Parts: sequence; C-alpha cells; structure tokens
Amino acid sequence: MFEYDLLVVGSANADLVVGVERRPGAGETVLGSDLALHPGGKGANQAVAAARLGARTALLARVGDDAHGRLLLDSQRAAGVDTSGVLVGGAPTGVALITVDPSGDNSIVVSPGANGRLTPEDIRAASALVTASRVVSTQLEIPLETVAEVVRGLRPGTRFVLNPSPPQPLPAEVLAACDPLIVNEHEARVVLGADAGATPEEWAGALLALGPRSVVVTLGEEGALVADASGPVRVPAVRVAAVDTTGAGDSFTAALAWRLGAGESLAEAAAYAARVGAVAVTRQGAQASFPTAEEVEEIDE
Ligand code: ATP
Repeated sequence: MFEYDLLVVGSANADLVVGVERRPGAGETVLGSDLALHPGGKGANQAVAAARLGARTALLARVGDDAHGRLLLDSQRAAGVDTSGVLVGGAPTGVALITVDPSGDNSIVVSPGANGRLTPEDIRAASALVTASRVVSTQLEIPLETVAEVVRGLRPGTRFVLNPSPPQPLPAEVLAACDPLIVNEHEARVVLGADAGATPEEWAGALLALGPRSVVVTLGEEGALVADASGPVRVPAVRVAAVDTTGAGDSFTAALAWRLGAGESLAEAAAYAARVGAVAVTRQGAQASFPTAEEVEEIDE
C-alpha cells in the first residue's frame, strides 16, 4: 500500500573537516591537517541510516549542481536510498566547515546553501512522494515553513516524526502532528522555553502538553525516555565503548521511525533504536558508522 517505509525530508551537507592544534582566533591563520570530506546533514544521515537497516527509504532534499551535491547523491544511492526526490540547483550544496582540536572539541560553521532553498512549493510538487510513504521524518536544517507544508500534505495513516534540530519554538500545527517529537535535553529546553523543568520525565510531560501525540527524549549513554498518553517509560542504553557519538541521534531517529512504521510500540521501537545508536557510537564518523540490521542483531545486550 505504501511504496516507501520512510521518507526523510531534510538537509544534505558536505562536511569539511580539518584537524588543528588549536582553533584560530579573530584575524589569525593556523595550519591544519589534510582535509576530510564526508557526506552529512541530518536528513541525508537519517536516510542512509534507515536504508542500511533495510527500510525502503526515499530522501526529499535539495543540493547544489556541484561536486558536493554529486557526492551526496552518490552516498545516498550507494546506501540504497531512492533519490528521485532530491532536487538539484538553486544554490550551492550545504556545507559544514568543521575544525577539530586534539581534545576533540570542534567549531562548526554551517552554510545551509541549497537546504535553505527547499521551499513549501517544492513539497507541494513532491506530494506523490509524501503520500507514498508510511512514515515521514523531518528535522530543522530546512526552513520551518517547509516542514509545516510537509505536515499539511500528510495523508491519513502516515506517521510524522520530527527531530527539531537545530531547535526553535514550534507552531501548534507542527507540534500536533508529531508522533513522536524526538528531542535531546537542549532541544527540549528550547522548544519548551524558560520553564523546562529538571528531569526528562518533566520535559516529556511539558512537551506532551504542547500537543504532540508522543515524545522521545534521547539521553546519550543514559538511553532514552518515551512518553505518550499512557505515561513515561525509560529505555536503557546498550553498554558499549563509545569512540565517536557523531550521528548517534540521526541513526536513533531513523531506526525509531522505521520500526514504528512496522507496527512496533514506542517502547519497542526505541529499544531497537537504542541498539542502532549504540553500534553507531562504537565507530568513527556519521554515515560510515551506521549499522546493517545484521550488525544490530549481533550487538550484546
Ligand atoms: P547527536 O549528537 O547525534 O545530535 P542526540 O543528542 O540527538 O545526538 P543522543 O542522545 O546522543 O542523541 O544519542 C541517541 C541515542 O543513541 C541515545 O538515546 C542512546 O540510545 C544511543 N547512544 C548515544 N550515545 C551512547 C553511548 N555512549 N552508549 C550507548 N548508547 C548511546
């Protein structure tokens, strides 16, 4: 009945990473390591994560007509993502300029580029893709008005998942569609505003009061908390030796969205997503760290 298990509507960035002894101050130039170029962006990451698990996945995004755009399209296709919804042109491909010092601290400048040009009109033109998908997942590295248009185009029976990253206050129309809204602590605090509370249970309760049908709070090595009308449930993390947490949230969100579409409960889907996130943090990189379903099965509880 649905052609796709998951449609990701979101960003695609080229991540340009340089190691430095120390990050430069104003007016200063420092020499760094060789450049590393990786496909990234929350939308592109989620699509790759889902496809690698075996989900029939499509990406609706915009990239530039340039080498970075081709890199991103290639990495999506290599993972098995349907890229018929990826629009090309209008601005350069989004780029994240990342410097990393020896302690692992980084400084990042993002040029949204083509991501900022994914418009509500683009969503209306791609309505067939939206209605062909069992679950639609978005983030906020594309304009909020574009996310709102995705919500308006959902057909009954399609599940909508939002990770509001980078966070900003959300309109009631978008909040009401989320099932779930997936946040970490920082995102919860921004979406809630000043009186966010002190515990994940309090954040989840306050977020539910804003309208989403369900909420997931990710807690890093503490796992996650899921909450809906039946109350909050803690989902423990899988104990692993983490080497790089980049992309953990994206792989968790993609896995959760896919398993929810397959009919699992929120707690079941989050437990599976926690296993996916746990594998991802044991490996370097974002997309490079995302596991296959077989690799998720192999991880020890
Ligand atoms: P990101 O930094 O990618 O934006 P996030 O803050 O959105 O991530 P996290 O809470 O860091 O999301 O990670 C998502 C999920 O991945 C967690 O809920 C947890 O299940 C798993 N995870 C993250 N870090 C670890 C860890 N160190 N050990 C085990 N599991 C982890």
